[in-house]
Amino acid sequence: MDPLKDVSLDEEFLKVLELKGISRRKFLKFCGAAAALLGMSKLHIPEIASAIEKMSKRPPLIWLDFMECLGCTESFVNATYPEVDKIILEILSLDYHETIMAAAGEQAHENLWKAVEEGNYLCVVEGGIATGIPSAMTVGGMTSMEIMEKVGSKAIAVVAVGMCATHGGTQGAEPNPTGAVGVEEFLRGRGIKTPVINLVGCPANPENIISTVLHYLLLGKLPELDAHSRPKIFYGQTIHDNCTRRAHFDEGRFVEVLADENMAKGYCLYKVGCRGPHTFGNCPTVLWNNRQSWCVDVAPCIGCFEPKFWDRFRDFYEPLPDVKLPGVRASADKIGIGLAAVTAAGIGAHAVGSAVKGRLKKTESHVIKEEEEEKKE
Ligand code: SF4
Ligand code: SF4
Repeated sequence: MDPLKDVSLDEEFLKVLELKGISRRKFLKFCGAAAALLGMSKLHIPEIASAIEKMSKRPPLIWLDFMECLGCTESFVNATYPEVDKIILEILSLDYHETIMAAAGEQAHENLWKAVEEGNYLCVVEGGIATGIPSAMTVGGMTSMEIMEKVGSKAIAVVAVGMCATHGGTQGAEPNPTGAVGVEEFLRGRGIKTPVINLVGCPANPENIISTVLHYLLLGKLPELDAHSRPKIFYGQTIHDNCTRRAHFDEGRFVEVLADENMAKGYCLYKVGCRGPHTFGNCPTVLWNNRQSWCVDVAPCIGCFEPKFWDRFRDFYEPLPDVKLPGVRASADKIGIGLAAVTAAGIGAHAVGSAVKGRLKKTESHVIKEEEEEKKE
């Protein structure tokens, strides 16, 4: 059964999509991708399509920028597959976003405080809060601490996007001169109990951002979170579990020096510093760059989905300690403490080698299939 075939969409809605350059097929592909990311089967595509279509009152969203490089916004607005940015901007009322809103100066600030006064909004935060030197981060004369406290205390939930908003970012690396902290740490320190969802990553994957917002809009609740307040649905498995190079790891075939001839053959990057065994995330399955590629195609994973990876994973080209290799045992000794337990949990809990053998082949065929579908349109 083709779940896309029987989905009927209102003519008016189709016209709106058309004006935005989104075909019916692309919209349904978006719904399919959202279903997959939310852990639903394809049979839920009509339900998702209909829910999006019927969203007459667009829920307000406030997007705050603090200490960061704007990489997460870049990642979000550059996502063209499957037209996530256009669709999300159609279904959400983006009342305030310092980078992409039309308003500026005082008018922009009026919009912000009006939205806060009306309440019932989702708050997305990109960037860390400067708590050590508050004046290091100000917007419109207010510090990041003042803005975050005011906006965060009245939000339905705060979605912290990227490593800066979740854990302070690289400006929070030791010795952390500005006292940069993530949103959750900041709000809890002030006794503010607003739910916080941490979408880690440097940057956060745009599809994880969209899917989190959609989860709330479609199901009326926030996704289930792990101990780091990350949605389990995106961060439940390690990079290593689903890696395209995993079959080579299991067979003991390693790249010994970066860019050697075995790199192109797809050999495992563990010995040149890959942090995949310690890192929880869906990069190998959701991919990046419009689902075309991901880091491990060309370089070792640096573990950017793990809290404070800049300090914990320093010495990026040294192999991780205590990863059991086929017939070998690694002995790097300069990596942060506590990683061994995480690795053991990561590998032990996620059935080494289960679904990943042949993954490279699956990914290639996925891309080829997508291209064929695009050509048919
Ligand atoms: S160590 Fe890295 S490259 Fe090797 S299989 Fe694991 S995640 Fe992939
Ligand atoms: S593969 Fe590793 S380095 Fe690349 S985005 Fe994912 S977690 Fe970050």
